[in-house]
Amino acid sequence: MALCGPLLSAHFWVNALSHYGLTIPENRSMVPSASASVIFVNPTDEVKWGAAQASRNGDYNAKILLNKELQQPGSGRSTRHIELDISSLTPLSDDGNLYEAGDHLEVMPENDPKVVQAVALNFGWVLDSVFEVDPDSLKDVSPRSLAASIRGSCTVINALTYYADLSSPPTRTMLSIFAEQLSKASPETADTFRPLIMPDSAEFPAFVEKNRTLLELQKNYPQVNQLELGQFLSAVGVMQPRRYSIASSPLSHPTRAHLTVGVVHDILKDGREFYGLASSYLARMPSKNLRAALKSSKSSFGLPTDPKVPIIMIAAGTGLSPFRGFVQERA
Ligand SMILES: Cc1cc2nc3c(=O)[nH]c(=O)nc-3n(C[C@H](O)[C@H](O)[C@H](O)COP(=O)(O)OP(=O)(O)OC[C@H]3O[C@@H](n4cnc5c(N)ncnc54)[C@H](O)[C@@H]3O)c2cc1C
Repeated sequence: MALCGPLLSAHFWVNALSHYGLTIPENRSMVPSASASVIFVNPTDEVKWGAAQASRNGDYNAKILLNKELQQPGSGRSTRHIELDISSLTPLSDDGNLYEAGDHLEVMPENDPKVVQAVALNFGWVLDSVFEVDPDSLKDVSPRSLAASIRGSCTVINALTYYADLSSPPTRTMLSIFAEQLSKASPETADTFRPLIMPDSAEFPAFVEKNRTLLELQKNYPQVNQLELGQFLSAVGVMQPRRYSIASSPLSHPTRAHLTVGVVHDILKDGREFYGLASSYLARMPSKNLRAALKSSKSSFGLPTDPKVPIIMIAAGTGLSPFRGFVQERA
């Protein structure tokens, strides 16, 4: 298992203490659990309210022009052919093309509005309210937390839609902060979370299987809903962009990128269903702006420069995407 940051440090201390026959004192967690301070902004402050509406963790710079299903009815799966206008993106080279066949498009996902509404409702937050994180309160807060990532004023709805990773399983850092914050208000919930924080916790995998997302954690442990916004922003991480192979060639589509996206849909043994964050976000957008960036794959994956060199293309599923671009390029 690869460990980094706070968990690496926690792992080190657990092993160092046990080497010397010592244990961690009860009620002490090994990952940061400080909470950022949040200031709610008065609606009369038009500048901050305006900036808050526009806070999206990046600007809209690409647009979906076409989005259609490739699977036959009854296949039980969904694979989308998506065409985007990418003329506003930063080109990958100065040779006149925005991208090369085989390059990637990095997409910033957005949370499903229904999930955003449900999370906010559980916490009792007003979606339109505007807040700012006090930068002086960030000293002991994880740099990957929402609190450290949202700069300036932001609405609660934008924080939940564009920044918050609401679909990943609860992390140990998250549980550590929740345990700390709930130690007085709900000591039994804090006691449930504490043993899970240790990197060698045997119960952690079963716990995250039952509590796959924040919404499930809120349902199974309603005491979590007492947390304040600053505590939530310190505990939850920022959602990560997803890469997609570009399924077109700039020679036939100079300002467009085609994508072939397999929609992730997990059905667990107990019947619970989960959709992949970015693939379901892309699938549900008929024509909409999104935040994206071109990423080069030149160093590891590309066509031979001499078009006469024969190529063999081997792929499964959506691994076909870049080869569609290669065929267009050769044609
Ligand atoms: C270089 C590159 C090129 C790619 N090209 C393509 C392409 O052309 N087409 C394509 O369709 N994909 C491509 N991918 C994959 C793509 O980036 C995404 O990983 C994929 O779409 C799934 O992302 P998602 O956000 O929909 O799913 P996620 O939300 O990231 O979920 C993915 C899987 O993670 C697990 N998971 C997620 N959340 C939880 C949880 N809470 N608890 C337990 N398990 C969980 C599940 O098993 C789930 O099936 C590419 C990836 C790379 C790195």
